[in-house]
Amino acid sequence: MHHEPHPINKSSLYVVATPIGNLGDMTPRAIETLRQADLIAAEDTRVTGHLLKHYSIGTPMVSLREHNERGMADKLVARLQAGESIAQVSDAGTPAISDPGARVVAHARAAGLRVVPIPGASAVVTALSATGVEHGFSFVGFLPAKSAARAHTLSQWQQRHESLVFYEAPHRLHDTVAALAQAFPTRILTIARELTKLYENFETIALSEADAWLKTAPEPRGEYVLVLHEAATQNAETHPAWHNTLAVLLKELPLKQAVALTVTLTQAAKNEVYAHALTLKNQS
Ligand code: SAM
Repeated sequence: MHHEPHPINKSSLYVVATPIGNLGDMTPRAIETLRQADLIAAEDTRVTGHLLKHYSIGTPMVSLREHNERGMADKLVARLQAGESIAQVSDAGTPAISDPGARVVAHARAAGLRVVPIPGASAVVTALSATGVEHGFSFVGFLPAKSAARAHTLSQWQQRHESLVFYEAPHRLHDTVAALAQAFPTRILTIARELTKLYENFETIALSEADAWLKTAPEPRGEYVLVLHEAATQNAETHPAWHNTLAVLLKELPLKQAVALTVTLTQAAKNEVYAHALTLKNQS
C-alpha cells in the first residue's frame, strides 16, 4: 500500500466518492483530488458547495444533473481533451451508482481519456457489509414508483436466488416492503436506515411477518437500503450435499465405484450412500 498524495494528472476524469452521511468518511485522497482538479462536475453545486466550504476548497464547479448529462458529457470531454483535469461527484456516495455520472465516464473512455476512480462510501456496500448475507448479490437500486411496474420488475427477480439490494425513498418504504412480501413471502429482509448517521439502524424481519411489522412500524424518515436475503437452499435438510455428488458420479461410473468415490469425496456414511445409490438406480 502507498499513500503519498498524488499530484493529479491533466486530461483525466476523477470519479470521486463522498460521504453518505458521516463527514468522517471523506477520504484524504478525495479531498486532495477535489482541491487539485481544475473543475468539479457536481450533481448539485449547492450540496457539494457545503462540502467544499468545509475543506476550504475553492475549485470551480459546474452542475451535472441527470437531465443535462447528455449535453454535458460532450462539453466535459472537450475540456478534458484541452488538458483540464475534472473531478466528478454526486450529492452523496459513489457517482454513477443510482446517480448521474456513468454517461460522462463512458464518453471519456470512448475518447481514450484516463478515468480514475477515487473510492469511498456507497450505501449498497455499506448496508451489505453489516447485514450478514453470504455469497453474491445483485444491486437493483430504485424500483419503479408505480405499483404495476414495480410488481412487474419484482416478478422478473423472483427466479433469482441471490441477495438483492434496493434503494428506497422514505415515502415509498412501506409500499415497497409490502410488494417485496408479496413477491418473496419466504425470504428475510434487512431494513438499513440512516447509514453512518446518528440514527443508524438495522432491522431484520421475515417477510411472512411483514403485515404485522407494517402495522407497528413508525413513520419512515431518512434514507433506506433494503437487503433481501438470499433464498434458503432448497431442501437443505432433506437433501444432504453428497446427493449431488453421487448423482453426477452415477451418470459416469458403475454403482460400486460411484459409491466408493462419493464416500471418499464427501465422508458420507457408506451404507447411506449405497442405499441412496440403489434408490436412484431403480428410479432411472
Ligand atoms: N450514489 C449513492 C451511493 O453510492 O450509495 C446513492 C444515491 S441514490 C440517489 C440515494 C439513495 O441511496 C437513497 O434513497 C437511499 O436509498 C440510499 N442511501 C444513500 N445514503 C444512505 C444512508 N446514509 N443510509 C441509507 N441509505 C442511503
